[in-house]
Amino acid sequence: MPCPASSPNREGAGATFVFALCDLYMLARTDSIAGTGMAMTRRRLMKLLGAGALLGGAGTMLFGRSANAYYAGPITDHFDGTVFFNPDGTGPKGPMALLRWQLLEPRAKWPEAFPSPFPQAKPETRLAPGKVRVTHVGHASFLVQAGGRNILIDPVWSKRASPLKAVGPKRVNAPGISFEDLPPIDLVLVTHNHYDHLDTGVIGRLWQRDGAGVITPLGNDTIIRGDVPGITIATRDWHDVVDVGDGLRIHFEPTVHWSARGMRDRRHALWASFVIETPQHKIYCVGDSAFADGKVFRRVGEKHGRLDLALLPIGAYEPRWMMSSSHMDPTESLQALQLCGAKAALGHHWGTFQLTNEAVDAPRADLAAACAEQGVPAERFTAMHPGQVHDLA
Ligand SMILES: [Zn+2]
Repeated sequence: MPCPASSPNREGAGATFVFALCDLYMLARTDSIAGTGMAMTRRRLMKLLGAGALLGGAGTMLFGRSANAYYAGPITDHFDGTVFFNPDGTGPKGPMALLRWQLLEPRAKWPEAFPSPFPQAKPETRLAPGKVRVTHVGHASFLVQAGGRNILIDPVWSKRASPLKAVGPKRVNAPGISFEDLPPIDLVLVTHNHYDHLDTGVIGRLWQRDGAGVITPLGNDTIIRGDVPGITIATRDWHDVVDVGDGLRIHFEPTVHWSARGMRDRRHALWASFVIETPQHKIYCVGDSAFADGKVFRRVGEKHGRLDLALLPIGAYEPRWMMSSSHMDPTESLQALQLCGAKAALGHHWGTFQLTNEAVDAPRADLAAACAEQGVPAERFTAMHPGQVHDLA
């Protein structure tokens, strides 16, 4: 389990999380929850544990507000001195909603395997600085070859998006690039710390193999260094820019989301989107975002002007009453594309880990229907499969 303690706060959070999971596991063995009148299979509760792991459980609500485990800094319009927040007030649902979702909402059954129609990619070692090639690894993970650099976004190679090896959302297709076939990685961008976006195991391997440093929003350095001591990390706030050299700049943009790794660290680290700017191109990379009022997307379009490409999440959206404050559905993603004005978009965050209730291929089908309904050419917004490659002209 990738949450060993390097600081007292993290140790406490990790221990509480494990104890809570153990309590729930013991409950699961009784096969029912007293007072609900509902039979609950052990399998169903194990899925709940997986969802809890992903969503950070209900720790803050259950155990109260605790000191920030990862970050200390001045109060801003999105940090209150203890936790980060979305300025528009959008926030994650509480524990009762989590229970209602898991116990009462129908959940499509995903297949054990959902293989990509594309073979695993074998990327070139380097591209010329003026070229851009984007290869989908699966879920929210991409290899972006741009500005002569090799950049991984939210790399996850683990079998599960979970703190636990045996419990939690399990991948139903192989990474679109085998780890051994990855070109030398110069830089890793991490949008936020949910387990389906931050896999400290692969970040440690990339640091060992290539000396790949990480760029990530405030607070996530504490988590990553806890598992990968000595790694080079640059953390920044929304609206900041990291100049990587040779005209390559990484812009931090606001996004409507939240964060958690355990039971007591909800919103202790910041979440963000990135714009990768090269002398020739701009690529907008959204890991997770709710649509909310759409302002974050419009503002990125206004700020950056012409965006050549947007990586937009299109999955993990059902049921809407639960997920709309965390994730966009395909229709909202299409609106996000139109608001930011990118020339084209690649849809991700679907078809690899089952996080929510929609069927495995529903995001692709819903996106196609939304494009048809709004008269957007299907080729402008591609629902990506692992191993699929997109070149910018
Ligand atoms: Zn997330």
